[in-house]
Amino acid sequence: MSAGRGEAPRAGVREAAGVWEAPGRVNLIGEHTDYNDGLVMPFALDLTVVAEARRRDDGVLRLSSDGAEPGRETVRLEVADLAPGHGPRGWTDYPAGVVWALRAAGHRVGGAELRYTSTLPAGAGLSSSAALEVVTALALNDLYGLGLDRTELALLARRAENDYAGAPTGIMDQMASACCTEGRALVLDTRDLTRRDIPFDPGAEGLALLLLDTRVTHAHSTGEYGRRRAGCEAAARALGVRALRDIGPGELADALGRLGDPELRRLTRHVVTENERVARVVAALTAGDVRGVGPLLTEGHASLRDDFRVSCPELDLVVAAALDAGALGARMTGGGFGGSAIVLTEVATAAAVTGAVERAFAEASLGAPVARMARPAGGARRLA
Ligand code: ADP
Ligand code: MG
Repeated sequence: MSAGRGEAPRAGVREAAGVWEAPGRVNLIGEHTDYNDGLVMPFALDLTVVAEARRRDDGVLRLSSDGAEPGRETVRLEVADLAPGHGPRGWTDYPAGVVWALRAAGHRVGGAELRYTSTLPAGAGLSSSAALEVVTALALNDLYGLGLDRTELALLARRAENDYAGAPTGIMDQMASACCTEGRALVLDTRDLTRRDIPFDPGAEGLALLLLDTRVTHAHSTGEYGRRRAGCEAAARALGVRALRDIGPGELADALGRLGDPELRRLTRHVVTENERVARVVAALTAGDVRGVGPLLTEGHASLRDDFRVSCPELDLVVAAALDAGALGARMTGGGFGGSAIVLTEVATAAAVTGAVERAFAEASLGAPVARMARPAGGARRLA
């Protein structure tokens, strides 16, 4: 059995049948709402995973990546042997999981040769795992003429991540990578997967959206994520609704009055106000008021820090230093307990804001954050 066997790297894919790419993403607003059936609003980054791929008719899946862990740069698997549930096997779980998920759903997919190159940092909260899955799904969809649409591909990619790679994530990352469009953010209803594109182009307004990676991950993040999720489910049960997204802003005061537990009250207040903030960001952008998004980001951060309690000192420091230096708004993005913050600022003050955050980190004896400019880019596509 050849599953998992390492092979020496080999250059290029001979007779490549095509080249595809899929981006990472940042969530503009709508945090910890996905498992409450709520709204999220990600946009794609111009950082991508590219796959050069061709079909193989011998049932072999040969995967190689310049971003692989050492010693696993090239892996050869038998498609017929792919099965979930044998514990983590490394980076190939994501693409192999896509092949498994497609076959498990009854699609006629055989072997393939896929070679990945990437500009998207892995493990930085920018969703490289989803980009790797989505680029694989898109390539196989074309190579095998499956005719699946973007939502179907995203759902299969999520199945690969949840059931094959064993990471219990929501649908946002795969939908963002598969469906985003340039210069727009994607408003996704995570209950029914309906989506809308909303123009979001800070650069056209003389603004910059900065992405500041604190480069910290606090060890308790997974356990805390599970606790928040369980708390939201308990609150929904206590309120007699399917999920917290079913509580509208006008019903919040009454709902809080009916919840005895202060922690459940705080969790509920965050989810309800966060869904409302997504609607307010959509309204601001639809009215052409990109600057008006700033205070909503800052409000969202306060809610995540004080009510949902998933921030950490490093994220709070980015937000405080950026606002002190004149940013229009800032918030943590992603699950919390580390990772990145986003900052909306005038282009003219972007360098001063970044400098202020870097100085604040140095004064607190923290490692320097990594600053990037985030430009809303297009979703997954075929390049050649
Ligand atoms: P994120 O999705 O936020 O980047 P994850 O932990 O979900 O973080 O996924 C990171 C994992 O995805 C890496 O550890 C690696 O296994 C895989 N991965 C991402 N990009 C690549 C790549 N270009 N090549 C190989 N594996 C990759
Ligand atoms: Mg991921």
